[in-house]
Amino acid sequence: MNDLTKLREHLATIGDLHSAAALLRWDQETYMPPGGAGTRAHQLATLSRLAHERFTAPLTGSLLEEAEPLLSRLAPDSDDAALLRETRRDFDRARKLPAEFVEERARARSESTEVWRTARPANDFPTFRPHLARMVEFARRAAGYLGYTHHPYDALLDEYEPETTTRDVAALFDRLREVTVPLVRAIGARGEAVDARFLDREYPEEQVRGCALSIIRSFGFDTARGRMDTSAHPFSTGFGRGDVRITTRYPRRSLGALFGAFHESGHAMYSQGSAPSLDRTPLDAGASYGIHESQSRLWENLVGRSRPFWQYAFPGLRQAFPAHLGSVDAEMFYRAVNRVRPSLIRVDADEVTYNLHIILRFELEQALVAGDLDVKDLPEAWNAKMAEFLGVTPPDDANGVMQDIHWSYGLIGYFPSYTIGNVASVQFFEAAQRAHPGLVEDIRLGRFSALLRWLRDHVHAHGRKYLPKDLLLRATGSPLTPEPYLRYLRQKFGEIYGLGGGGA
Ligand code: ZN
Repeated sequence: MNDLTKLREHLATIGDLHSAAALLRWDQETYMPPGGAGTRAHQLATLSRLAHERFTAPLTGSLLEEAEPLLSRLAPDSDDAALLRETRRDFDRARKLPAEFVEERARARSESTEVWRTARPANDFPTFRPHLARMVEFARRAAGYLGYTHHPYDALLDEYEPETTTRDVAALFDRLREVTVPLVRAIGARGEAVDARFLDREYPEEQVRGCALSIIRSFGFDTARGRMDTSAHPFSTGFGRGDVRITTRYPRRSLGALFGAFHESGHAMYSQGSAPSLDRTPLDAGASYGIHESQSRLWENLVGRSRPFWQYAFPGLRQAFPAHLGSVDAEMFYRAVNRVRPSLIRVDADEVTYNLHIILRFELEQALVAGDLDVKDLPEAWNAKMAEFLGVTPPDDANGVMQDIHWSYGLIGYFPSYTIGNVASVQFFEAAQRAHPGLVEDIRLGRFSALLRWLRDHVHAHGRKYLPKDLLLRATGSPLTPEPYLRYLRQKFGEIYGLGGGGA
């Protein structure tokens, strides 16, 4: 028994506590009767506290210290070396935040989110404002404890995108904005070139669910090791690669649930594809939130909103909904599910405008954390940027600054991961295509196994073994770069909207 065995055992126990908590949260969002809420809050608090206490205890530090001399003898890309590196990173980070701070913040988070839940539908920013101000203050304090060189935002970003700096993200986002804003204007000038009215009809929920499940199973979502249920907000969670669960919702009984299911199946297949050697270790996770998002976006957009995919899948869909889609063909459907329209709500945004919603949040978050923007001036700043980026102005704060749950929970530094995921998704897809030149033809025939196998080998199997930038470089031969994504957007939407020479 070498020194690493003890560390592995210790971390596996902590991982079990996290898994049990995740299962309770899944249950809370899906099947728990409302009466369970009070007891459930205690159960979750207890499990989280136990896991946190065990992980930040001196024992973790001494087990790490005992094992770390092994590093010089381990291959740098071995599981053991990665385990030591990543555990050291988590441990140092967790120990920098004082226990009282973590507890105080946890309490404030639940309060703030509760207030947000009623203030948003009531369009009552003044009631939410002091809670949001507190969340910003916690973020600033956290950045102070964690430390940073250039910008306090670096310290926050690092939790979601290890070793990615504010400067890296700003450079990426500036380039995206430079191309996207004029593209949105050019598309807007084409008027209503795409008819999507048939998407707004009411589709029976049970049949939408059936279609969604059958499609994601064909992608490779393994229902012997996963399941799909219904919740108010779609999500994916897992307790090891043998049990990965996703949820969808059926808003306005539209076909939107199909794309929600495609998205969550991308997250789930990432988790199902983790290497068995990573079981019950902290490496059984995604490389970063952005890399996780790249997998969901790849299946949702690069496969699920592509023309070849609907050439394959549309006949089956029309058969399921003859009254709704009888007079529609695959090409009309493809164009409809890719309609571009500047809108107020991020989660409803199309592929072209989506990133502008993220860039707006990124800029506002930096200003809040740096102390350049006061929370009381936030609604005005929000609305000004919406007008500047998207040409729309929210009629109220419910459809503006209060729309996302993230800030109410103090998740500041998280939003950039969504756009990083979009950008990386195209890099991964193109790398898979280079390895399998027949990939697009496969999709047209409803064959997804070569794509999934490539993702398994180059992304999924590695779990959290590599830093996101190293994983991307190994898998695609390139660091994170906006150009493939921008080329994809210009080609796809230039063609749909007849923008002439869109591929430039
Ligand atoms: Zn996602």
